[in-house]
Amino acid sequence: MALNESSAPIKTVRKTRSVTINPPRMCQPMGAILAYMGVNGCVPLVHGSQGCSTYPRYNIARHFRESAEVAVSSLAEDAAVYGGARNLTEAIKNIKSRLNPAAIGICTTCMSETIGDDVKLISKKALTDDTMKIFPASTPSYVGTHLTGYDNALKTLVETMAVKGEPNNKINIITGIINPGDIREIKNMLRLMNVQTIFLSDISETLDTPILPGGHKPLLPDGGTSLTDIADSANSLGTIAICRTAGSAATYLQNKFKVPAVLAPAPIGVANTDKFVQNISMLSGASIPDEIKKDRGRLIDSMVDVHHYMYGRKVGIFGDPDLVSAIVRFCAEAGMNPTVAMTATKHKDFAPDIKAVNGEYKTDTQILEGTDLYEFHEVVKAQGAELILGNSKGKDVADDEGVPLVRFGFPVYDRVGVYRYSIMGYNGSIYLLDQMTNAILGHRYDPDKLHQ
Ligand code: SF4
Repeated sequence: MALNESSAPIKTVRKTRSVTINPPRMCQPMGAILAYMGVNGCVPLVHGSQGCSTYPRYNIARHFRESAEVAVSSLAEDAAVYGGARNLTEAIKNIKSRLNPAAIGICTTCMSETIGDDVKLISKKALTDDTMKIFPASTPSYVGTHLTGYDNALKTLVETMAVKGEPNNKINIITGIINPGDIREIKNMLRLMNVQTIFLSDISETLDTPILPGGHKPLLPDGGTSLTDIADSANSLGTIAICRTAGSAATYLQNKFKVPAVLAPAPIGVANTDKFVQNISMLSGASIPDEIKKDRGRLIDSMVDVHHYMYGRKVGIFGDPDLVSAIVRFCAEAGMNPTVAMTATKHKDFAPDIKAVNGEYKTDTQILEGTDLYEFHEVVKAQGAELILGNSKGKDVADDEGVPLVRFGFPVYDRVGVYRYSIMGYNGSIYLLDQMTNAILGHRYDPDKLHQ
């Protein structure tokens, strides 16, 4: 049965105001830092002013509850006149002498891009030996968002490191900006399928670091993808990008080394996780084990269990485009009614994804792309929402509307532990559905309205 019988065509709304109000997005260096933090022994270096590293560090500390070792070249007014070469050179030398890391991942900022510093050349001159790798990503913050920065940094990693060698029988997985818990769940599925992988990149340990016996926590965390593995990514059976906004490295490996690239939807919900498992099976030749089939069955069972609570529930969803479009599909699969899907980052697949769900499930989800939470709130008021899904920046909208907010994405700073759990794969989807159902039950439980 159609959830909505309205025949009005769904339009994609893009912001036309020149002022942005409450944007649920961040600037490019934020994403680049997260990509670099997934590389073993890599120190991110922000080539900009102090605030350009303080702001990402603050968000990382609040979301992951980990301190982040992020260096900065500390540009000041004089750099605007004379250039930032001296600061960048000193920063590279300081990091080498204090931490001696395996690599430094440089990201540029509004200021260094406006100055026009040749980061590649400056960093090459600053290195006196080749015991340390430097990744010089261009991440100008006046275009794109944190997702563009992640994509640019990841592409820089493979451009700098990947080399042709012997076939390795592995699959490259590009995660995009997802949580350590998500990466662990994806790894678990791949272990069950007996598939060897290279994660580009991998924050599952570096941003969820255990305290070891004796209270020891290393300055540069263990974990992350090794430089050797990044180099070897040119020899893999294929690359699967589970966030298409982070697909440039996959395309680069395909064009340069003929490593097949699959840019697929995020594995959330039944259909998208099926696609992920099928893609892994197609590239690796691995069969799908019973354990994974049982997990799929449990997801379907969990959807049946809560169907009478969730059917027709209006939900507003905002965040990064890959995650939003996958969650919209999952909500529709669960019989819910996604009234609005909003992303601040424009991406070519976003509107077609939502329109496809509208076509298949006869929903009429309003599409907001490249907009802000002001716009989102206006549509929530007009279309209605009994539940909002998004990061912590949606709290005011949820509070104003008197509905619960189920937190996902980045950053989540007003709840603890969200980064530890997965909303991906069959198991993660069960967890997400339980969170949504319990939010509805906890907020609106009324025996006269809800069946028990
Ligand atoms: S928007 Fe520009 S100035 Fe602001 S933190 Fe990002 S890079 Fe720095």
